[in-house]
Amino acid sequence: MLSAMKTAIKKVEVCCNNCGSKNSTLVTEGTEHEYKNTTSDVFRVVKCTDCGLVYLNPRPDVSELSTIYPSDYYAYHLAQKATENTDSLLYKARRHVYLSRLEKAVSMCGPNSTIKVLDIGCADGRALNWYKQVRSVKVQTYGVDFDEKAVELARQAGHTVYAGRFEEADIPAAYFDLVVATHVIEHVADPKLFAQRAFEVLKPGGIFLIETPNIESADAKLFKNRHWGGYHFPRHWIFYSPTTLKKLIEERGYIVEQTQFHPAPAFWNWTMHSLIGSVDRERGGAFSRFSDWIFPPAEFQKNSLKNLIFVSAFTLLDVVLKAITGTTSNMSLAARKPNSSEPQN
Ligand SMILES: [Zn+2]
Repeated sequence: MLSAMKTAIKKVEVCCNNCGSKNSTLVTEGTEHEYKNTTSDVFRVVKCTDCGLVYLNPRPDVSELSTIYPSDYYAYHLAQKATENTDSLLYKARRHVYLSRLEKAVSMCGPNSTIKVLDIGCADGRALNWYKQVRSVKVQTYGVDFDEKAVELARQAGHTVYAGRFEEADIPAAYFDLVVATHVIEHVADPKLFAQRAFEVLKPGGIFLIETPNIESADAKLFKNRHWGGYHFPRHWIFYSPTTLKKLIEERGYIVEQTQFHPAPAFWNWTMHSLIGSVDRERGGAFSRFSDWIFPPAEFQKNSLKNLIFVSAFTLLDVVLKAITGTTSNMSLAARKPNSSEPQN
């Protein structure tokens, strides 16, 4: 199986996306452990010595995207998975989480009877299907995705979908009340441009809801040396802290309304998979095979009693950690595009 891994994929050296500095210190090194058909190359996570931003450097070249996102990547084609049981507790719990976060963001959008929501990286429209179920207002659903098959599926589900990368897609300006980017910004080449584009497509007074890993959580610090699930080698390119994310958003002209921390059971799943399997992953030994079975890196969302138990246990662990430390590995930030009468940053 390991023979399917590519070595020496094309990489590119980058500077700090926040401040442009090339000065950095090494945080850790790590390798892919979730998929057996991507790359076995070692990647470095570094911290900017000038502004503190943490990022992958060098990172895969964009020509290698199809290498690092294999066709069985877990986020693709979620709603059409034949195995998805919409009556299962895991499905209902996930829908509840997405809907309650969206409803809070909707409530910040002001007293509208209809709102336009854009989901960046909408995949097959699974979250948009849920957003239609918001009761307080009528939600008009829009998405953008670069995967052609996903775009087709989301259109079939009744959503208006723009094809292409968000930064380049032909999307009307000052059009949306709410723009949502759930675990997308850490994957993109230029988060500054990404946040700027969101600003442009928002109506004045509109809300940008962004969710991304938190590099300053307790488990990110505990498993800093390679195993933290939030590294997601080599697909996560930027790792924000509450401070560096706020800086990115405020410098684009937004007013930050709220930063929150949510449970991140997927990261714990990947942390444990990395940690346990690291004993003998290169040999494909018993620990590695056990970690693939007990913490399946791509199939932890599938409905099974084992997955339900671990997702529940990891969620509970994060509830406790948040009570003690105030944060978790999963943060969301809601920011508002100022009305023209308000002072701009
Ligand atoms: Zn910097």
